[in-house]
Amino acid sequence: MQLLDGKLVSEKIKQDIAREAAEFLTSNGRKPHLVAILVGHDGGSETYVASKMRNCQQVGFESTNIRYEDDITQEELIKKIKELNQDDAVDGIIVQLPLPKHIDPEVVTEAIDHRKDVDGFHPVNLGRMQRNLPCFIPATPYGIMLMLDHYGIQTAGMHAVVVGRSNIVGSPMSILLARNAQPGNCTVTLTHSRTKNLKEEILRADLIVAAIGKKNFVTADMVKEGAIIIDVGINREISTLTKSGYKLFGDVDFERVSSKASYITPVPGGVGLMTIIGLLKNTLAAAKKEVYRY
Ligand code: NDP
Repeated sequence: MQLLDGKLVSEKIKQDIAREAAEFLTSNGRKPHLVAILVGHDGGSETYVASKMRNCQQVGFESTNIRYEDDITQEELIKKIKELNQDDAVDGIIVQLPLPKHIDPEVVTEAIDHRKDVDGFHPVNLGRMQRNLPCFIPATPYGIMLMLDHYGIQTAGMHAVVVGRSNIVGSPMSILLARNAQPGNCTVTLTHSRTKNLKEEILRADLIVAAIGKKNFVTADMVKEGAIIIDVGINREISTLTKSGYKLFGDVDFERVSSKASYITPVPGGVGLMTIIGLLKNTLAAAKKEVYRY
């Protein structure tokens, strides 16, 4: 079994991004700039946004965190997004999900200019991704593809089973793995809570992407010998044993599954760190106008 080491790969790619950010600063007189909007005080969201901001600083990006209380109206939020769309000093805009119930995430997602949509959630980017055109790819699936690429894993012809069909992870992951590219060219089965015989489906997989949100959901009896395991899950549990006060678990029973796997991502230290890389690469590409030239 080989560990797919998110720390090692992300640090290496971050060095490349930092070099390109420095070049961008020299030729443009400013840094690539990411704006993250955070509504409310969700613990997970606070941690993710703080980490995104910290990573931006590490690679030499400017980052701005705009914070609102839970009671902000949808109109106020959209007004701010439209302002940022017009601001030439802003390259990428992300709105951290989940949003309070009175705000429709679809409306917010579509309000972001697709040329600044570095989360890759806008329907324009989603459609372009499906057609293999230049676009911003959602950060988590993008990070996973970069990880597979880094380890030179040839996925052509593999049967990939994606567990979970969310708009941000499972669905785009299934599209990317099926595209005519490397990594890609897989035969993909996209599964979810209504899938019949889920265990049998997963057992057929050469490559498993687990994005469910349930601790240790994928157990050793569901996994074929030699399968590649990508564990997206981040499940927090209160713990007195860690400094932060909580411990993270993946969607895969790492201890028992790892002995059957050919490659496996740990949690923490796997996909989460690569997700940040996906976001940084999208932001840099937005600044350099590599995806949309107008
Ligand atoms: P969602 O809750 O949006 O989606 C979960 C998916 O899992 C749904 O499609 C759901 O099916 C499916 N599912 C739930 N229960 C079952 C079941 N018993 N059998 C089969 N399928 C099931 O989650 P996300 O995609 O946003 O996130 C998934 C996990 O990944 C979470 O732990 C999240 O914290 C983590 N995450 C990690 C990131 C990272 O950077 N590492 C980034 C984003 C998320 P249905 O559609 O039918 O309801």
